Amino acid sequence: MTRRPLISGNWKMNLNHYEAIQTVQKLSYLVPKETLETVDVSIHPPFTDIRSIQTVIESEDFDFHLGAQHCHWEESGAFTGEVSPAFLAKLNVVYVIVGHSERREIFGETDEMVNRKVAAIQAHGMVPIMCCGETLAEREAGETESKVLGQIETGLAGRTNDQIASLVIAYEPIWAIGTGKTATSDDAQAVCAAIRSKVRELTDEATADAVRIQYGGSVKAANATELMSQSDIDGALVGGASLDPDEFAKIVQFDT
Ligand code: PEP
Repeated sequence: MTRRPLISGNWKMNLNHYEAIQTVQKLSYLVPKETLETVDVSIHPPFTDIRSIQTVIESEDFDFHLGAQHCHWEESGAFTGEVSPAFLAKLNVVYVIVGHSERREIFGETDEMVNRKVAAIQAHGMVPIMCCGETLAEREAGETESKVLGQIETGLAGRTNDQIASLVIAYEPIWAIGTGKTATSDDAQAVCAAIRSKVRELTDEATADAVRIQYGGSVKAANATELMSQSDIDGALVGGASLDPDEFAKIVQFDT
């Protein structure tokens, strides 16, 4: 099966709404329309920018998908500081990152919370980008697969095959995020293949074939083509390099 590539820009806590508008406009000049016929691109600004970016994307008819970096699993209530998936859906958000390692490590998100969020995001008609990945210590201890596959199993618990087929998994080795270190394409491919096998074991062949798996961790224009050429890597979750429209536009055009 040919899976449509998805390149996602995670802006993290960078760019206020003025800067965000400029960045997305610049990106639209740099990415040819034809590229967007074969590649999905999502932009994940901070919450305070989402409404502005929605307006720009919709009024200027840009073919970028609006994304968010995180949300709560509840619809509403006494959760000071949190954002409801219903509010994101109302802004026409398409993709929501869930379980990013920074959320897990700094804010204590567990696999069970990730599982509830995945369900809530899908219940509101949006697509979760569910992150998984190992620390350097876990990698050196030979625990990469047990850590990552455990996150997958708990994160996807209770989802139907169709729901799993339509979501996105992002494999992001924690030691490669924001460090300039990238997993070799062989290593990244091996873990992404193991993730697909796990999905096959939990579901069936068609679901494993359909689910899109991104690699994330210091992706740049210089390594995107090589990473994207791997058979089980269907996209990239890009942090730092997505803040620079020139660099991100080159990553989006990994194929040319
Ligand atoms: C990320 O934010 O998910 C990420 C992979 O960051 P970077 O590309 O900067 O390593």
